[in-house]
Amino acid sequence: MNDTEIMEVLYRLESKIDEGLAQIIERIDAIERRRHPSPKTKEELVQTVRDFYKYRCPCCELTQILNDRGTPKEVAQYDHWISKSRNKADQMWIVCRKCNSRLEVDSEFKNRSANRFKSFQERREQNAKPLLD
Ligand SMILES: [Zn+2]
Repeated sequence: MNDTEIMEVLYRLESKIDEGLAQIIERIDAIERRRHPSPKTKEELVQTVRDFYKYRCPCCELTQILNDRGTPKEVAQYDHWISKSRNKADQMWIVCRKCNSRLEVDSEFKNRSANRFKSFQERREQNAKPLLD
């Protein structure tokens, strides 16, 4: 086999692996049960947006996701950061619809947003902690 032939074989192998992986992920998604956040978890996530993000999406920091009373608008969505079955407060955040759908399909965007998710969680934890005497 010459170099070109070897490259072709490698390329075919690679696309086979990608295809297989996509099927596995699809199966896992079908098996996993979506767990919605509890009312307490939702409130904790909303509170963090109220206190630290001026009612805006913590992912893009542009779209207003809470109304004037500080409750979620239509455009707000709870995003399962880890997987749809993980619904604890440290595994989720509340973002705008646009960010939520992008996080689902765009792994590059998700990687870039990881630091924002992390600092959202640090702020939430800081908020959830009782005040010291
Ligand atoms: Zn957003």
